[in-house]
Amino acid sequence: MFDLIVRNANLPDGRSGIDIGIQGTKIAEVSTTIEAAAKEEIDATGRLVSPPFVDPHFHMDATLSLGLPRLNRSGTLLEGIALWGELRPTLTREALVERALRYCDLAVTQGLLYIRSHVDTTDPRLVTVEALLEVREKVAPYIDLQLVAFPQDGYYRAPGAIEALDRALDMGVDVVGGIPHFERTMADGAASVEALCRIAANRGLPVDMHCDETDDPMSRHIETLARETIRFGLQGRVAGSHLTSMHSMDNYYVSKLIPLMGEAGINVVPNPLINIMLQGRHDTYPKRRGLTRVRELMEAGLNVSFGHDCVMDPWYAMGSADMLEVGHMAVHVAQMAGIEDRKKIFDALTVNSARTMDLQGYGLEKGCSADLIILQARDPLEALRLKPNRLAVIRRGKVIARTPARIGELRIDGRPQAVDASDYSPVIPNPPTRKD
Ligand SMILES: [Zn+2]
Repeated sequence: MFDLIVRNANLPDGRSGIDIGIQGTKIAEVSTTIEAAAKEEIDATGRLVSPPFVDPHFHMDATLSLGLPRLNRSGTLLEGIALWGELRPTLTREALVERALRYCDLAVTQGLLYIRSHVDTTDPRLVTVEALLEVREKVAPYIDLQLVAFPQDGYYRAPGAIEALDRALDMGVDVVGGIPHFERTMADGAASVEALCRIAANRGLPVDMHCDETDDPMSRHIETLARETIRFGLQGRVAGSHLTSMHSMDNYYVSKLIPLMGEAGINVVPNPLINIMLQGRHDTYPKRRGLTRVRELMEAGLNVSFGHDCVMDPWYAMGSADMLEVGHMAVHVAQMAGIEDRKKIFDALTVNSARTMDLQGYGLEKGCSADLIILQARDPLEALRLKPNRLAVIRRGKVIARTPARIGELRIDGRPQAVDASDYSPVIPNPPTRKD
C-alpha cells in the first residue's frame, strides 16, 4: 500500500508507461506496473513527469522590486547596479521577506522547488541577509533555498565589504560569493578570487562567483578561479556564474582555459535571459550575444546549469519563475537546436543544476525525495517548446500546487472544439540522434 502512485508517466530519459509509487516523503518504487493500491492515484498518461526545476542563480533580495525607486532607463548592467545602490538603503526586512515569499509562491506553481539566491552583503545593516535567512526557514517545507554571500559592489572596492561578508557567513549563509570583474583592477579582482576561495576552504563552504560578466575578452578571472579551486582543493564545489567574457575571448586562449576549468570541476552557470539582454551593449553592429560557450563547455564534460538570475528587478523587467523560459532562450542563443542538444538543455534546468547545488536525494529513482512535477507536455523537447502548465507539483509526497490543463476552445464550424497544444507535435519516425 502506497500513499500516492503517479500512473503511466513519461520520464525525461524517454521511458514511458512508468508508475511511480510514493511512501511518506520518498519514492519507494519506479516500474512499468505497480500492482499495489494507494491512498491517492494521479493519472499521468502521456504526460512528462520530471524532477522539479532547479534555479542555481537568482537574486531573491531584489526580485519584484521593479520600479523602486525608478526604472532602469538605459537597460544596462551598470545602471542596474547603480539603481540597486539607490534602493538598498531604503530596504526593510519586512518588505524583503514579503517580496521573496510572493516570488516563492510563483516559483512553486512553476514547479521550481530549489533555488540558490545571491544575497547582497554590501549594506552593513545586513538587512538583506536577515530577511533571506528568515525566508529560507519559512519556505523550507516547500523550497530548498541556498544563500550566497554576494559583495555586489566589490569585495575590495566597497568599504566594509570584507567584514560584512564574514559576518553574513557567521550568520549562516551557505555559499561564498564574489564579483572579481567589478573590482577596481584586474589585480584586485584576482586577489579577491584568492581571498574568497581561502575563506571557503577554511570554512568548508562552496563558492559561487559572478565571474567575468562583461564583453571584455581580457576579463579572465575564470582562469584564476579555476587555479585557486585546484590549489585549495575545492574541485567540484565551485561555480562560475555568467562567464560571458568567454564569448568574446580568443579561441586559442579558450582551448587552454576549458581544460583547466575541467580539471577544477567548475560548475558553469550561464544566465541566458539576462546575458542576451545585458551583454553587447557597447557594440553597434554586429552585436555580440554575450552568452558563454555552452556547447563547447558541455562537450568538454563540464557541468553546465542555467540560472534565471532576475525577475522584475533593477536589471530585468521580465521573467516569470519559469525555468523553461530560461531553457527556451538558451536553445536559441546557444543555437542548441538538435534533438540531443535540447535534451541537454532540459538537463541543464534539472539534474545539472541539482549537481551545481549539491542537492541530496534529487531525482526520480527509488529512494529519492518524492519531489516531482507533472507537465502538460509529452517529453522534454515539447516542454521546452511550449513552456506548458505544471499540472501538479509534488513535494515530499504531497501535492502542493495544481494548475488545470490549458485547453483552447475553438468555435469554427467543421474544426475540433478543443485545442491542446501538446497534441500537435508531429511524431518523428526514428529521430536522428546525431546533432542536426
Ligand atoms: Zn546574478
